[in-house]
Amino acid sequence: MKNLARYCVLVLLLAGTHVSADTAEQYREQRAQLMREIADDVRDTSAYLDKDTLDPRVMQAMARVPREAFVPGAERRYAYENRPLPIGHGQTISQPYIVAIMTDLLRLRPDDRVLEIGTGSGYQAAILGELVKRVYSIEIIPALAKRARTVLDELGYKQVSTRVGDGYYGWEEQAPFDAIMVTAAADHVPPPLLKQLKPGGRMLIPVGSRFMTQQLVLVEKGADGSITTRLLLPVRFVPLTGER
Ligand code: SAH
Repeated sequence: MKNLARYCVLVLLLAGTHVSADTAEQYREQRAQLMREIADDVRDTSAYLDKDTLDPRVMQAMARVPREAFVPGAERRYAYENRPLPIGHGQTISQPYIVAIMTDLLRLRPDDRVLEIGTGSGYQAAILGELVKRVYSIEIIPALAKRARTVLDELGYKQVSTRVGDGYYGWEEQAPFDAIMVTAAADHVPPPLLKQLKPGGRMLIPVGSRFMTQQLVLVEKGADGSITTRLLLPVRFVPLTGER
């Protein structure tokens, strides 16, 4: 009887390892499929983007970061569907296509210092961390910030610094930034963020009310400090909250 029990435990253990190895392989295949979908979506929206392929470095980053690690357990099997997913507290991890194009639009260089507003799951911060030297990311919901930090640490993203706070005011101590990405929708471009952008820098921010489609806006600061803005494409993000 004892032997039978031991045998059963052994079988269960082996089955367990077998399932997880399978899952890792499945995730790899699903990630490869997702990369093809992103490439197709980029081609389909080339009129908005002014290009029909993304920077290969951005695609490599997307192919490297395990999205399943940033998605809560119940949603994990959908990790490689090309859509936003709930991450708790009424928030979402962005659609992979949107993460890819926003990252591409920032035209990052390896030495850049980048600020992200809205850490959420930490996924976008990890993608940025694959491409640049330093990433600073702010999240207003402490529980999300904590979970994102844990995942980023587990995956070894030391180049990504996170903190809890209202991103409307940016991260003054670490400014200025070469690029800023806001991943929650605001009804205007926060002046503190404009101020913390380097001359020659680029910022992406979804602008619009929570009840309307928002526009993804590219803000560029010229070498002389002049600001130009361009509406790029309609998007849908959760709202930027906080006191403002
Ligand atoms: N970039 C995230 C997705 C962000 S969803 C990812 O890759 O998973 C938007 C996030 O912005 C939410 O987590 C929300 O809590 C956060 N947020 C909303 N208002 C904020 C503010 N004023 N400052 C910082 N974070 C904010």
